[in-house]
Amino acid sequence: MPREPVETTQSCNGRCVELAAPAKVNLGLLVGPLRADGFHEICSLMVPVTLADLVKVEPAPGQGLSVECEVCRGEANLAARIVRALERRLPGSYEVRVTIRKRVPEASGLGGGSSDAATTLLAIERLFALELPAKLRYEIAQEVGADVPFFLWPGPQLVMGKGNVLKDVEVPDPLHIVVAVPADLRLSTADVYRWRDEDAQPTLEEFAPRTRRFTLGALAAQRPQDLAPLVTNDLEGSVASRRPAVAGLKRALREAGAFAAAMSGSGPSVFGLFADEERARAARDELLSSSRAARAFYVTDLQPKEEAPRGRRPSSKRDG
Ligand code: ATP
Repeated sequence: MPREPVETTQSCNGRCVELAAPAKVNLGLLVGPLRADGFHEICSLMVPVTLADLVKVEPAPGQGLSVECEVCRGEANLAARIVRALERRLPGSYEVRVTIRKRVPEASGLGGGSSDAATTLLAIERLFALELPAKLRYEIAQEVGADVPFFLWPGPQLVMGKGNVLKDVEVPDPLHIVVAVPADLRLSTADVYRWRDEDAQPTLEEFAPRTRRFTLGALAAQRPQDLAPLVTNDLEGSVASRRPAVAGLKRALREAGAFAAAMSGSGPSVFGLFADEERARAARDELLSSSRAARAFYVTDLQPKEEAPRGRRPSSKRDG
């Protein structure tokens, strides 16, 4: 079993598979130089969290592939794109109806679309009893998006390269996190990286020692508070200077008691770490009642279950 889902309901009398597709939070995100392939070098500590979409995949013989999703239907959905990527690699086609119930705010830096795609692949593997070699699953996921492979495996990971080099890491838990999305603000990942390029062009010589310090810090963290120095996002300054709502929401999280706060991914969502659940829930309520956040969630990190086998990632990438 590649991943222990958050809320698995192998329902429909075995005729469909329904899995939770968790969001991710970038506890820290360092951005390095632009690569020849157009992506940036990154180094990030990513954790899957309890906020999740629900992905249902059911056989639809004779009806082809369909994807129902309130934010993005049909072939444009990353879930459809991963099925097409699978079909390009294996003989035959997959006639399935994919239904996605969105909980994760879209285009907010929480990786919802990437997680839906990875989860669709996991569901199809179960539904059709496929035993895909680790390398093939990884390649299919990567073809759909740099963030997709992360969601194929459970638990926190250090994410490097263009987002495709993954390493399991233990993060002190439980983390009490409030994720907040500024009202009326959506950002495209491409725009945010363009802003960053306008503002800073770090060299590899500058980036490499920062990633070493960051990685060592992540590996050494014993208590949630030890993560505070790692809670940083190199994209945040470029976003906050152009979209002050992001800076305002981060300030509000700090004022509400977060011991560390930053933007997640390419934003605009912002998160804060809290000492305990009670304080975190109170902060979420405060943000919502003050209307500073359009949406706010209390979440915790998802750790892999002890008994869940971890090892289906291609070894060359695992330690790369
Ligand atoms: P990331 O953090 O990986 O940059 P994100 O959280 O910012 O991603 P997503 O929610 O993954 O953004 O969606 C980005 C865009 O992708 C949306 O604007 C939407 O049009 C499109 N999209 C395709 N499939 C999906 C999906 N299943 N869920 C949400 N958006 C999707």
